[in-house]
Amino acid sequence: MAPFDNAVAGALARVRSEIEAAAITAGRDAKSVDLVAVSKFHPVEAAEAALAAGQRIFGENRVQEAAGKFPVLRTRYPDLRLHLIGGLQTNKAREAVRLADVIESLDRLSLADALMKAADQEGRLPELLIEVNTGDEPQKFGVPREEADRFIRDCRVRFGDRLRGLMCIPPANEDPVPHFRFLRSLADEHGLPVRSMGMSADFPLAIAEGATLVRVGTAIFGARPSA
Ligand SMILES: *Cc1c(COP(=O)(O)O)cnc(C)c1O
Repeated sequence: MAPFDNAVAGALARVRSEIEAAAITAGRDAKSVDLVAVSKFHPVEAAEAALAAGQRIFGENRVQEAAGKFPVLRTRYPDLRLHLIGGLQTNKAREAVRLADVIESLDRLSLADALMKAADQEGRLPELLIEVNTGDEPQKFGVPREEADRFIRDCRVRFGDRLRGLMCIPPANEDPVPHFRFLRSLADEHGLPVRSMGMSADFPLAIAEGATLVRVGTAIFGARPSA
């Protein structure tokens, strides 16, 4: 194994054991938390190293980048699962539908319509999560808090059970816990089973607050090369 592969394998093992410890502390089954390894901006070799270490769920921000890396890997690892976690333009909806197993960043009706149309054309529809802008930050993706209830109901009507849950990225310089709690209770109110919350800096806290998906990049692959 190359040194890089060893580093990724070691980091993955550490993250997995932290996930397990956080779940146990919270009185939860560790199997109720899935790890999304966020490989964005890293070369395909990084994802390959993680695959060799047993990781199967990956997250990418950009459709173009995901399209360049994952179809080839999928032929070798048919059980690989790709999550698109970045803000999605409507003109990328069709390619996103073709590529992804889960789209975590549904946040507006125009995108919902584009995904519906793409699903018709492609004959497949990924699982969907609604991204909630829990901090109501103007520069961020995600549906504003105020509009979340309504948007969730509208998406339920359109997508039925393909709408699986909610995702959030709390503001960088705030305590994330109130944001995780808000997302958790909103998901519960709507009977949505998936809560995608927690990144390298705070995934144990997110697990304590009920995360079922944690999206971890830096803690697995190291600092991102600048894009
Ligand atoms: C980049 C990214 C992550 C991973 O962040 P790290 O701090 O590197 O773990 C998680 N979620 C989203 C939506 C991201 O864009």
